[in-house]
Amino acid sequence: MTKKAIDMLSPTETFYRDLAQHRAEHPDTTRAIGQHGYIELESTWGDEATILNTARISTGNSRLSSVTEFTEKDRRLLFELLRDQHGTPFETIYFRYRFVAPIFVLRQWVKHRISSWNEFSMRYRSPIDAFYLPDDAATHVDGFPVMDEEDLESYNDLMHSVLDWQSARYAKTCRRIDEARERGELPPKTTGRDPYRGRARELLRNVLPVSAYSDVYWTVNLRSLMNFFQLRCKPGAQYEIREYANAARDLFAAQYPLLSEVIEEVAALHK
Ligand SMILES: Cc1cc2nc3c(=O)[nH]c(=O)nc-3n(C[C@H](O)[C@H](O)[C@H](O)COP(=O)(O)OP(=O)(O)OC[C@H]3O[C@@H](n4cnc5c(N)ncnc54)[C@H](O)[C@@H]3O)c2cc1C
Repeated sequence: MTKKAIDMLSPTETFYRDLAQHRAEHPDTTRAIGQHGYIELESTWGDEATILNTARISTGNSRLSSVTEFTEKDRRLLFELLRDQHGTPFETIYFRYRFVAPIFVLRQWVKHRISSWNEFSMRYRSPIDAFYLPDDAATHVDGFPVMDEEDLESYNDLMHSVLDWQSARYAKTCRRIDEARERGELPPKTTGRDPYRGRARELLRNVLPVSAYSDVYWTVNLRSLMNFFQLRCKPGAQYEIREYANAARDLFAAQYPLLSEVIEEVAALHK
């Protein structure tokens, strides 16, 4: 793409172009979710050896440097710690996910309090000009369309009109601010944040629907992550958060196959 073409992209087009490029460079740690969603297991701290080394402070000083040194005895200890709910060693390894998800999914996700959140600010960044449109799997229950074609068309029009209203009003406000500056009615723009535009963004974001997308870093320890998988991968969890939870679990399993296997074995005991 030429520089001129890139300069003409909207903030949302630039955002999704960068995300697609990042996905192409990191296919093993990223996933697309539906049309506009995204999840990435961006960083991890610690592994199976960290868990055992932490637990063994109770009994001795032997240390493993990584999971590659695991013997059957080590694997057995990992299983027993998990089975017997010795929880704190599982709090010593951490995962940082980044995801782009509809706000209604975030509302459910944020209930998982034992984790840290950093969300993009619509005071400083333009909103992501995209909304969640349910696909066939989302709209059908036992083959019955709970939203039919006409509902979807109407939903689509409504969401577009809200986002269009929001961006048109913001553009208009920016023009008014610039004109007032030219007339000397407002102080000239300095290098920092523009307080007038910032306040406008703060107010205009209020109309965004919960189907609008947000961009988040989620940092969580393994104990809390297992709780999240248990609650949000199960069939009773809402379809949309389940899609993200299943992807988060797959990305985790790809990097931690042994741990993932042991978690499954312990879960099978409770079925
Ligand atoms: C299918 C489904 C439907 C749901 N429906 C609703 C709903 O209608 N309305 C709603 O508000 N929520 C709802 N929830 C959210 C649910 O109630 C939990 O808030 C959410 O699943 C997070 O679980 P958690 O508290 O175990 O996780 P975290 O907040 O991450 O906590 C992890 C663990 O830490 C401990 N803990 C954390 N905080 C405290 C505390 N204050 N006191 C004591 N122990 C604590 C608990 O052992 C807890 O399991 C739903 C969840 C699911 C899966």
